[in-house]
Amino acid sequence: MSHSDGTRAVHAGLPAPAVGEPFLPGPVFAAPYHLDPVTGPGENGYARTEHPTRRALETAIEALEGAPTLAFASGQAAITALLLAVLRTGDTVALPSDGYFTVRAFAEGTLRDLGVKTVLVPTAGPYPDFTGVRLVLLETPANPGLDVCDVRALSAAAHEAGALVAVDNTTATPLGQNPLALGADLVVASGTKALTGHSDVLLGYVSAHDPTLLGKVETWRKQTGAVPGAFDSWLAHRSIATLDLRLARQTANAAAVAGLLLSRSDVTGVRWPGLPSDPSYPIASAQMRRIPGIVSFDLGSAERAGRFLSAARLVFAATSFGGVHTTADRRAQWGDDTPPGFLRFSCGIEDAADLLADLTAALDASA
Ligand SMILES: *Cc1c(COP(=O)(O)O)cnc(C)c1O
Repeated sequence: MSHSDGTRAVHAGLPAPAVGEPFLPGPVFAAPYHLDPVTGPGENGYARTEHPTRRALETAIEALEGAPTLAFASGQAAITALLLAVLRTGDTVALPSDGYFTVRAFAEGTLRDLGVKTVLVPTAGPYPDFTGVRLVLLETPANPGLDVCDVRALSAAAHEAGALVAVDNTTATPLGQNPLALGADLVVASGTKALTGHSDVLLGYVSAHDPTLLGKVETWRKQTGAVPGAFDSWLAHRSIATLDLRLARQTANAAAVAGLLLSRSDVTGVRWPGLPSDPSYPIASAQMRRIPGIVSFDLGSAERAGRFLSAARLVFAATSFGGVHTTADRRAQWGDDTPPGFLRFSCGIEDAADLLADLTAALDASA
């Protein structure tokens, strides 16, 4: 039976009911486990390779992404594991020029030193011919600019040229879009953001149907060790139960916030892929099942952005996004190639009327 999102999120990765047992078993705190003195390891031998709490979380994410999944200690641990497991000296990787900045920094440092060439492509295109490219990493919607690309068309073009396609699904989450169903070979994501959504866990994951491909990533993880701990895995799994509810409120808040921002003459560059006037809208509305709660806009200067963030009571100045608390991040302070007054605004799950009132007062006070 196929269930809808709320039901899938609540039940993802839970074991079959067992009398006297909790719905979601608690974290197992173990590094080594007892071995059979004669036959050695059973299901669990050593936590870097096998961990029941981590396995339950992976089963939950698998239920949402639609393919076997490996959890990592952070999004960057997952992305770098994927890149290093797949790419070899002489290979070329295509990366988004407007995507998560640490991925570009890794390509321009470690990958370059290993003899891997990088081609940077803006998410909105135009895309080059992929001939000679080993791996195409797409990030859609791209963080922080919120451009969206056509995963189905780009996967077909990449496969035609013999390239693998990975999609960073951090911003959308698996309830927002399923890149594997659109033709991608791999999904990679940070679970630190909306997937877990409480700003208290670092997490990453890689999902793929192809056992050989996922096996390479698993071997990489086993040999380098970037696994999430038991408590973080459990917290993440516990948080996924409310993913549908949190996303629904965040999306509704983003629609209200984007509408307010568009109505103001002292705010420019408002981007939200759910706005019919947004350049991302045509592809986003065809490809995505819901639009994330992230809005971006420009307040003109670093000074005004600072005054706005100081005046707002319900908007925490913070990096990261997708949490239950509304936050905003002036990306230029991190070296992102964005204007000095550009904010990535992440809607939390507060009540829309309170957010709009706070936003209006802070915009007025900072003008
Ligand atoms: C945050 C983020 C990452 C990195 O994830 P961490 O969990 O911080 O390591 C990767 N990709 C995107 C799109 C992100 O937003």
